[in-house]
Amino acid sequence: MKIAMIGTGYVGLVSGVCFSDFGHDVVCVDKDPGKIAKLNAGIVPIFEPGLEALMVKNVEAGRLRFTQDLADAVQGADAVFIAVGTPTRRGDGHADLSYVHAAAEDVARAATDYVVIVVKSTVPVGTNRHLKQLIRKANPALDFDVASNPEFLREGAAIEDFMKPDRVVVGVQSDRAAEVMAGIYRPLYLRDFPIVTTDLESAEMIKYAANAFLATKITFINEIAALCERAGGDIKEVARGIGLDGRIGNKFLHAGPGYGGSCFPKDTVALARIGQDHSMPMQITETVIKVNDEIKRRMVDKLLDLCGGSFNGKTVTVLGVTFKPNTDDMRDAPSLTIIPALVGGGAKVRVVDPQGQREGEALLPGVNWQQDAYKAVQNADLLVILTEWNEFRALDLKRMARKMATPHMADLRNVYAPKDARQAGFTAYASIGRQGFD
Ligand code: NAD
Repeated sequence: MKIAMIGTGYVGLVSGVCFSDFGHDVVCVDKDPGKIAKLNAGIVPIFEPGLEALMVKNVEAGRLRFTQDLADAVQGADAVFIAVGTPTRRGDGHADLSYVHAAAEDVARAATDYVVIVVKSTVPVGTNRHLKQLIRKANPALDFDVASNPEFLREGAAIEDFMKPDRVVVGVQSDRAAEVMAGIYRPLYLRDFPIVTTDLESAEMIKYAANAFLATKITFINEIAALCERAGGDIKEVARGIGLDGRIGNKFLHAGPGYGGSCFPKDTVALARIGQDHSMPMQITETVIKVNDEIKRRMVDKLLDLCGGSFNGKTVTVLGVTFKPNTDDMRDAPSLTIIPALVGGGAKVRVVDPQGQREGEALLPGVNWQQDAYKAVQNADLLVILTEWNEFRALDLKRMARKMATPHMADLRNVYAPKDARQAGFTAYASIGRQGFD
């Protein structure tokens, strides 16, 4: 089948590359000339494990190409996917649909034959129906359908998630559109996975409900972790003990410094706004947003305790700034709350991150970027583990402690055991939902 993919970000590029790997003929479009130049040179502009090799393979096979020319890409396509950003709109928390609207109108003006215009971006309930009107207005003669096909991939494991999804959700209004969508995903049928075919609104709602549920689950365990710190208990044991209950499940029960990233913060806020617009407040989601903000702020207090009440003049080494490992994405990362508080409080901050520097330099002014964790802790007063990259999971803690002026550690991902930190020579250690040294 012939597919055009509008937007070559984390979702559009992974989807376009994977569809071409299924054997479809794919043209990816972006309005950012820098991105298209890099892609045409065989370079992936983001960090996503395995993506570059898969992209190059499919370009060489003649199934995948990149262009800035949307009209050219749309010509003759069976389906045009819109995978542009839907960030939080400044000021009111709504999803900003301006990129989706602009892309849909461009597609409408460029298309000539029957086409399914598929929205992969995360959009509020009612958006696809509204887009249908916009498209009809922009090109009254066009024969088309709209379809909602929300994406569930996780950055860092995006190819695996796309190729082996738990489910594919497709919202359609006609059998003809359903057939096109089935044809696109047919190569996945070799492996048994459910395709959930719904109406447009249900598909749109599934995406927000899934993200809000996951954000709630993380926030719940983070709140229990905070209680463990006061009342007693070890959150790792507690999470294991509840996660073995099949009704609860063991995923998304790792306590940490609060959720961040490109989806949960903006999608929970957008769901809360949708609820308010319909006079049906999403009270659980609204509380989750508030509690998550408090959790991030509580991390700053934890670091302050380890610095004796003031960051002024202290040297703090932070390992990891991306919102999770295996991505270069910094959007709404907890580091963007924690590091400015350190810098603002007068600390000298050294940062190590395997992929975060390119994005992080502009977002975290006043920090000193380093490449090596051992060099970065030389004479430091506090070590903070903020993102659990593999390279930070098996550090020689003795060597780290020896190099520090004050061997104090904040392990905000519970990578190490308190007793290992103590044995290595750390004199103070704080983690999440566990007791420090007595
Ligand atoms: P992104 O910001 O990484 O990429 C968006 C791309 O679209 C950019 O390269 C931008 O230049 C391009 N673009 C914008 N308008 C365009 C236009 N008119 N024509 C051509 N290109 C255009 O965004 P992303 O992280 O890939 O997210 C895209 C959507 O997918 C969002 O709605 C997001 O909520 C959703 N989503 C993201 C993830 C994730 O993990 N990142 C997962 C699931 C769903």
